[in-house]
Amino acid sequence: MSAMPPSGGDPRVGLGAPATHSSGHESIARHIDAPRRISRGLRLRHRAGPGELSWHAARFAAALESSFSTEARADGLEYAIIGQTSMLKIEPARVRASVQGRAPRPYELTLRLHAWTEAQWDQAVGAMAAEAAYTARLIKGEFPSSAPDLMARLGLDLWPVEGGTDAELSCQCGQRWCKHAWAVVCHLSERIQDDPLILFSLRGMPASQLLERLRERRNLLAQGTSVAHPPPPMAHAPPLLAPAEACLHDFWRPGPALEAARAVRESHHLPHALLRRLGQSPMQGKFPVVGLLSSAYDAVRDAALNVRDSPASSPPSEVGSSESSPGSCSPPAHSP
Ligand SMILES: [Zn+2]
Repeated sequence: MSAMPPSGGDPRVGLGAPATHSSGHESIARHIDAPRRISRGLRLRHRAGPGELSWHAARFAAALESSFSTEARADGLEYAIIGQTSMLKIEPARVRASVQGRAPRPYELTLRLHAWTEAQWDQAVGAMAAEAAYTARLIKGEFPSSAPDLMARLGLDLWPVEGGTDAELSCQCGQRWCKHAWAVVCHLSERIQDDPLILFSLRGMPASQLLERLRERRNLLAQGTSVAHPPPPMAHAPPLLAPAEACLHDFWRPGPALEAARAVRESHHLPHALLRRLGQSPMQGKFPVVGLLSSAYDAVRDAALNVRDSPASSPPSEVGSSESSPGSCSPPAHSP
């Protein structure tokens, strides 16, 4: 069994470093059974723990705090400071982590929070989008100070419920609210401080998707509608045409209306408008259907633009169209 190196020491100091030290971190020295040290683990920047973080991040840890014993929290904080967490992965409504303790292999942990239902998300996105400042702050990566009031109005819990009753935690060490878990909570709180959108991700919606839905809802509020394909401009103003027998000489030539149609400015393009209207997939994140479809649409669009912009792709019939005989409907000969 290795001893812990001095407080804040380089984990590469290696196993067997003496447990005695002269720094101010007494709590580290009191352990006889120190964890196996790892290199390049995550190290907590805020050494006093989640209490010194900004309120929205500190509140996350505070909500879970009462589930842990004082000792588990003290040990977990030490683990977080000296870098015993080798992996921390934040997924929708779930966090996975690996924390190296005294066992030969790191303990795998999973923390789950109850995800909001699609109806709750719809309500939340609608309420957030209705406040322009709220959306703007989230897009800038800041946490809106009105969030607690807004969530309370909707009856939704953004942070874990006090005492962690809506959180499920499992650790391979066999204990539920263990020091490994508190180390993860410390790291997670620090991440939430850096990126408040993680709080929403922990309720089931990744940041990118939330921002997209907020923008979409803002667009709907601002413009009343959001369309995938605007109606063609010609449909609104059909040109007045002379009788066919009066224009036999230029029947096959494009008239001035074609130029006028070309001059009409294109509507503002909203990427993936149809997918945005449809919203979140009913598969609830089990299969990334929306992401796959948007990638497929992008690939089709890029291929179509390539065909359009490639000089070799212009059909030969366009070049000689004015010389084709009137009334002829035969298509141009294709090369094999
Ligand atoms: Zn554990």
